[in-house]
Amino acid sequence: MKRHILDLFAARSFFLFCLSVLLCYSLSVVPAIAGTVKDIRIWQSPEKTRLVLDLSSSVKHTLFTLDNPGRLVVDLDKTTFKANTGKLSLKDTPVSNIRWGTRNKSDTRVVLDLRTAVRANSFLLRPNATYGHRLVIDLFDQQPKKQPVKQPKPASPRGREVVIAIDAGHGGEDPGAIGHRGVKEKHVTMSIARKLAEKINREPGFKAVLIRTGDYYIKLRRRTQLAREAKADLFISIHADAFKNKKARGASIFVLSNRGATSETARWLAQKENSSDLIGGEGGLSLEDKDDVLAEVLLDLSMTSTLSASMELGDDVLKNIGKFNRLHKKRVEQAAFVVLKSPDIPSMLVEAGFITNPGEAKKLNTRSHQNKVAEAIYSAVRNYFTDRPPPDSWLAWAKGRRLAGKPVGTAPGMRQYIVKAGDTLSAIALRYNITTAKLAKVNKIRLSDPIRTGQKLMIP
Ligand SMILES: [Zn+2]
Repeated sequence: MKRHILDLFAARSFFLFCLSVLLCYSLSVVPAIAGTVKDIRIWQSPEKTRLVLDLSSSVKHTLFTLDNPGRLVVDLDKTTFKANTGKLSLKDTPVSNIRWGTRNKSDTRVVLDLRTAVRANSFLLRPNATYGHRLVIDLFDQQPKKQPVKQPKPASPRGREVVIAIDAGHGGEDPGAIGHRGVKEKHVTMSIARKLAEKINREPGFKAVLIRTGDYYIKLRRRTQLAREAKADLFISIHADAFKNKKARGASIFVLSNRGATSETARWLAQKENSSDLIGGEGGLSLEDKDDVLAEVLLDLSMTSTLSASMELGDDVLKNIGKFNRLHKKRVEQAAFVVLKSPDIPSMLVEAGFITNPGEAKKLNTRSHQNKVAEAIYSAVRNYFTDRPPPDSWLAWAKGRRLAGKPVGTAPGMRQYIVKAGDTLSAIALRYNITTAKLAKVNKIRLSDPIRTGQKLMIP
């Protein structure tokens, strides 16, 4: 009897043993999937093409290129691919097609067919307020695009143009604040920036430079660097932000402060804007930021003069906006925005309003309101530099001529056309490939105004 029980025990143990072996075997066969590629985005900037893969979790990956035909291969360990690549626009990118397949039963291989040879760089990003885990792949042209050599315009003996750098906040991977009905800050800022640039470019003696020309992200330090490369006289960063309180509304102007923010909102907004690099996918270690100590010293040395210019200009812009819009604060505020840390260029940040306020989001999304904001900034900028032109500028020369009661003539960057018999405004516009409206506006005449033989017209 005793033996019988022991046998039973043995049989049961053996059964359990077999079961566990079976279980272990089946577990080792079922692949352990760790992550999923949920979505894929592509951003094209003049400097690179950026591919962003949204992941359900952090994954191990390797990257290599293959020749004939050129391909870039991305291997993702223990990952499935569920992204829809059909919606991606690959036009004007070095990538002609994206394929993927399963390897070793549990890994994913993504293959990018390349049109041109690229140098690739990849890094993982941790989740933030906008996105989860991401794998970022930057593609750089191996043969750098032949940038149209910027022939510096021969400095006119009458002086140079005043350059205004316009920075549309956020872009690409960083949508900025998302407001009522999904209005994205990055689109609102771009529209205002374009409208402002158009107005400035129509003004004799001025030239606008857009820091961002499309929907892509540029890191904050690079924005001021681009302004410096363009030899900007002024840097304007345009935003329309969110605030924790949905009722907050009104426009504000900010200039840099090293001492601390002038208000709670200013501190909050500066913190939010400064974290843009993390959202935009430039949050990795950056050596460029290592010169912070030097930058601080430079800031102290040369900030005083540019700061007073920023303050004065900011004040004018604020007054103009106050004519048609509520102001968040009646005075220019100060906060430590990274994007304003250009010691040598007067810089200001325009918060056109709070996109989180339903009423303001609606307005900010309309062309007419965007145009009003652009006009308010433009007219303050024009008046400021016409009054206080840089000594080597055409505006300074023109001011001198005006004070002496002499004719000013054509500004740099403008041609002059002398109207001949039989000319019409539209025919001249056609000849110079511009619109009649633009020709009329530059010359401050109405479309209905007759033109006379011998009249001098400015051609932008
Ligand atoms: Zn912003």
